[in-house]
Formats: sequence, structure tokens, C-alpha cells
Amino acid sequence: MESIAEKKSYQVNDRGYYGTFGGAFIPEMLYPNVEELRENYLQVIADPSFQKEFNDLLRHYVGRPTPLYRANRLSEKYKTNIFLKREDLCHTGAHKVNNTIGQILMAQRLGKKRIVAETGAGQHGVATATVCALMNLECIVYMGALDIERQAPNVARMKMLGAEVRPATCGSRTLKDATNEAMRHWINNPVDTHYIIGSVVGPHPYPDMVARFQSVISEEIRWQLKEHIGKETPDYVVACVGGGSNAAGAFYHFLDEENVKLVAVEAAGMGLTTGHSAATTALGKPGVLHGSRTILMQTEDGQVVEPFSISAGLDYPGIGPQHAWLFESGRGAFLSATDDEAVQAAFELTRNEGIIPALESSHALAILGRLGASEHETVVVNLSGRGDKDMGTYMKYID
Ligand SMILES: *Cc1c(COP(=O)(O)O)cnc(C)c1O
Repeated sequence: MESIAEKKSYQVNDRGYYGTFGGAFIPEMLYPNVEELRENYLQVIADPSFQKEFNDLLRHYVGRPTPLYRANRLSEKYKTNIFLKREDLCHTGAHKVNNTIGQILMAQRLGKKRIVAETGAGQHGVATATVCALMNLECIVYMGALDIERQAPNVARMKMLGAEVRPATCGSRTLKDATNEAMRHWINNPVDTHYIIGSVVGPHPYPDMVARFQSVISEEIRWQLKEHIGKETPDYVVACVGGGSNAAGAFYHFLDEENVKLVAVEAAGMGLTTGHSAATTALGKPGVLHGSRTILMQTEDGQVVEPFSISAGLDYPGIGPQHAWLFESGRGAFLSATDDEAVQAAFELTRNEGIIPALESSHALAILGRLGASEHETVVVNLSGRGDKDMGTYMKYID
């Protein structure tokens, strides 16, 4: 038994677990690849030359630090102090590139010549193809054949960036089939290939590695908030959760400060009880998904339930293992917002602040009225991405 004096940890332990969640549930054939990464990732990240190259690229290529902007009109409306962390201003339009920059440098340090990734809506595929072009590494992106049809602009971007987009033609021809194909590719090319996962999901050490790369978000929030209000900690940090990487990055440096409330917002889709939802903690149960023990939406007999959300980035049936632990331990508050609430929040931000947010980020904005934050409190919302990619959806609401 753990001693009572032992402080509860929200970081991964040396066996790859967050509480009872995490681990590496992988086929034996994948073991050498994951083990090579596990043995090396902490040492590589700690290396001063890695840190320098990573930070230089974040600054001069991605455009960091991203601003922490006090949203005055929104603050007035909700009678509290709302700050937006502007990840929408990152190169490629979202936080995802923080992770792909880190992972491509990791791949180089491990002597890899080729990158493989899977993508659903194509956002992670674009962020991966971008850094492969930058570093002149071969890039293969697996994508469900149905998604290739639905996401033509991102397929075009990936191809222009020099990536090879390979269709997954089995099953429902969507993300999970693309993941299977990418895994198979990695098993068959273990020596020269690195697999770039796009969120804080997958077998250990991926969730921890991705969270470390995204933790630059909360590192910046601390000193930026100090400039704004004279102290480094807000009362609330709010972020949307698909797999959970932007939330993990925004929470990272506040995990052990229990007076900072961590608020994760999942996609309720058409509504929690409609059967068209992606609100994992509200509807899911513990199980194994994509190589780790976490919480996922599943049927009585353990089949993964097809998720639904208006935003492609939140359309995922699970969450990362750290979020499962934040939920189960009570450290994080998990809320959800419907498609309609998200769209409404997107228009509210646009009309009040002149910022068009991604549909994903709009879910985080949608719960501002439910937070109960007072006029003396400070709320930081992680604005994970910009809305250009969602204009097709937003246009349907403009008459
Ligand atoms: C992909 C994406 C998300 C969801 O991914 P997380 O890993 O949960 O952060 C959220 N916002 C935007 C803009 C995205 O592109």
C-alpha cells in the first residue's frame, strides 16, 4: 500500500502508469520499437543540444511564445478575467506542430530516416508532413479512404508538402483503420522508421513524451500571467480534449498546484444521450485503446463505439491515460459541450474579439458560462487552433 504521506502524482511513474491508467499494451512485434524509444526519450530530451534546437525552432519557425491575450469584452460578458492562450497563431494554425517538431528531432537523434503517421481529419498529417519537409525526411501518412474523400484540402496540403498519403481501405476506412495500417508499417520497418503519434495517446512513452513537448504552453502561461496580473497561477485552466494533447500541455505546469482548477471539455456531439457523441468520460469505461489502459466509449462486450462530433479533432472514442487519471482522481473537472454550443461559442468569440477559433477550441469556450468564476478570479482558455479549416461548417450558420 502507498503510504498516506506519499503525495499523489499526476505524472507518469517509471512503469509508464498514471494511477491505474497507461502502460504499453502492444503486440510483441512492436516491442523493440517502443522499447527503443522508452529507453532513450528522457535522455534525448534532456540533452542541451536537443533543448537548444527544439527551442530555436519553436521560436523562429513555429512563432513562439504565442501571446496570452486578455479578452476584454468576453471578460466583461462573463464577469471574470478571461485570458486566451493563442495556440491558433502557431505555424500551421494549431498546437499540433509543437509535438511534431519535438518528435522529428527525436527521430533524427535515434537515426531514423523515415516518418510514418496516421491521420483522421488530416490535421496531424499536415503537421507531420510540415516537419518532414523542414527536415528532409521521407513521410508516409496513412489515412482512411473515406477520410481522404472527406478531407480533400488537407490531403492536398500533405501532398504539396511532399508526403505520400496511403489510403486505408479496410473496415470503416477511417482513423482506426489508418492506425492499424501505420502500426503494420512500423512493425515491418523497425530500424529506419519513427512513428509520430499526434496526441497524448498510445503506449508508454508516447503520452508522456507528447505532454512534455506540449508543456511549453503552460510554461509560457506562467510567466505571461505574471506579466499581466502579477502572479503565475490562474484559478482555472480550460482546454478541449480529443486525445488530450493541448489540454495536457496547458495543464502540465499546474498539475501539482491544487488551487488551479483544471477543466477539460469533451465533445458531446448532438447530445450525451443521442448516440452521436464523443464525450468519453461521460459515456465510457476503462479498457485498452491504442496501446494503453484508459477510458473509452465501448459496448457491453468491449467493442469500441464509433464517436461523433462536429469537430474532426475531437472525434475520438478515448482520451489519453493521464486524462483518465485526472478524471478518476478528481484532479480534473470534465465537462462537455454540444455541437450547437460550440458553434455558438465560436460566433461569440468572433463577434466580441475578432478571433475565429477552431471548432475544437470552441468547445472550451462554450463552458465559460458554466464555470462559476468570480470577478476576482482568472481563467485561462487554451485556444488550440484557428477556424480557417472550419469555414465550410461555420458558413452553414450564416444567412
Ligand atoms: C487536433 C486538435 C485538437 C484535439 O487534439 P488534442 O490532442 O486533444 O489536443 C484540438 N484542437 C485543435 C485545433 C486540433 O487541431
